Amino acid sequence: MSQNVYQFIDLQRVDPPKKSLKIRKIEFVEIYEGFSKSQAATQADRCLACGNPYCEWKCPVHNYIPNWLKLVNEGHILEAVELCHQTNSLPEVCGRVCPQDRLCEGSCTLNAEFGAVTIGNIERYITDEAFKMGWRPNLSNVEMTGERVAIIGAGPAGLACADVLIRNGVKPVVFDRHPEIGGLLTFGIPAFKLDKEVLINRRIIFTDMGIEFRLNTEVGKDVSLTSLVDEFDAVFIGTGTYQSMRGGLENEDAKGVYEALPFLIANTKHIMQHQQASDTPYVDMQGKRVVVLGGGDTAMDCVRTSIRQGATEVTCAYRRDEANMPGSKREVKNAKEEGAAFLFNVQPLSIEIDQQGQVTGIKMVKTELGEPDDKGRRSAVAIKGSEFVLPADAVIMAFGFKPHSMPWLAEHHIELDKQGRIIAPERNAYQTTNPKIFAGGDAVRGSDLVVTAIAEGRKAAEGILDYLDV
Ligand code: FAD
Ligand code: SF4
Repeated sequence: MSQNVYQFIDLQRVDPPKKSLKIRKIEFVEIYEGFSKSQAATQADRCLACGNPYCEWKCPVHNYIPNWLKLVNEGHILEAVELCHQTNSLPEVCGRVCPQDRLCEGSCTLNAEFGAVTIGNIERYITDEAFKMGWRPNLSNVEMTGERVAIIGAGPAGLACADVLIRNGVKPVVFDRHPEIGGLLTFGIPAFKLDKEVLINRRIIFTDMGIEFRLNTEVGKDVSLTSLVDEFDAVFIGTGTYQSMRGGLENEDAKGVYEALPFLIANTKHIMQHQQASDTPYVDMQGKRVVVLGGGDTAMDCVRTSIRQGATEVTCAYRRDEANMPGSKREVKNAKEEGAAFLFNVQPLSIEIDQQGQVTGIKMVKTELGEPDDKGRRSAVAIKGSEFVLPADAVIMAFGFKPHSMPWLAEHHIELDKQGRIIAPERNAYQTTNPKIFAGGDAVRGSDLVVTAIAEGRKAAEGILDYLDV
């Protein structure tokens, strides 16, 4: 089959079908079905094969998008999957969770008038199909150098770093405090966006490639950074950001007020039956009126998790308007379909409690949009006299995250910036102020995206290879 460059005029953009709302409201299963072979081939055929593809530039790992779309259109899945893995360590994950509307698909030439090519879903299709066909990365030609690198954190940054190292003959040993790999892919992002089997499958593949995982092992507690620095030829730190931002609201420690990430992690561990006595307890929202404060992807995940747990009402309250929400538009749409209510232009002032100290509501003030902030987003300005109380049995605060404290970094002369992020600039290939130690992902750039963590893990691996002179 050859590509028809005018195909996009007759053939509309189609997204894969979603599961029925009945299932979506109660089950923690991925809501999107995959593409069929013919859907993937015809959707891939909509690509114009632009000479200078903006989608590739906008994709943080610079995937060879038009090239693998052509291969899918021609039915060459095994060639397409090899090409995907030249630039991306977890294409099946990015295809599912990247905010494509802001990245590759947002810059597709067809986007404005005809609807962007469904790049993300085709990326997912390629890897899912290749795995079903029994495809595995072939490292039989790789000669091991004998060098070993310790990787702290099995999130996307650490996994991407390990992937590039092993493909270049350097043995990665990955340490993570959790019982499964994936970091936030496994324990933060809920299963309705990313099935947990996806990462379990990747662990098996990475292990077969020669990556060693030491799970349930926390650096700084079970093993020291000093021992890793002594035992290994280099170290990569991809520990993410796990300190929740607080709202500074009166009574925010009241019974019934929860932080987003511990709530989501406990829910996933409950479903995966990975809970340990020391973990944050599982919270069940069944029968409760839940208010989620915040407007990002994490807020949307809390909203949709509460719906699946059987909350009677779930409201997302955000201080700006819908157009200025930082989260993915696709996930906002999905949350609305599943029954979430949205309250825009409101800011929380304090948590209302009863005599037992249990939350009963949130005092809010209405807002209007003011001047743009340093990121260009218009600030929310409170309107005097517009205060009101929104009733709630449970409140989830999803205000974002900042780096958690890792005092052991200073012992190894690893400097942090004012926000507590590890200093490891791209221009130095993500080398920290200790030349033997590299870092990447959220721990370096602050909370961001899966694909940016992958991009940094891969570039840091290149830096480590240079440092080791491989
Ligand atoms: P992480 O994924 O956080 O991984 C860090 C790993 O390091 C963890 O496994 C942690 O256990 C481990 N670790 C930390 N300290 C230690 C230690 N001392 N010893 C051993 N192990 C340690 N991005 C998207 O692109 N799309 C989305 O839809 C999306 N949804 C999100 C939803 C939620 C709820 C959250 C919180 C984030 C979401 N993100 C999303 C952001 C994305 O998940 C992160 O940007 C990405 O996972 C960062 O990767 P990382 O490898 O830097 O860190
Ligand atoms: Fe798009 Fe993300 Fe895939 Fe890049 S990695 S092509 S941004 S879905």
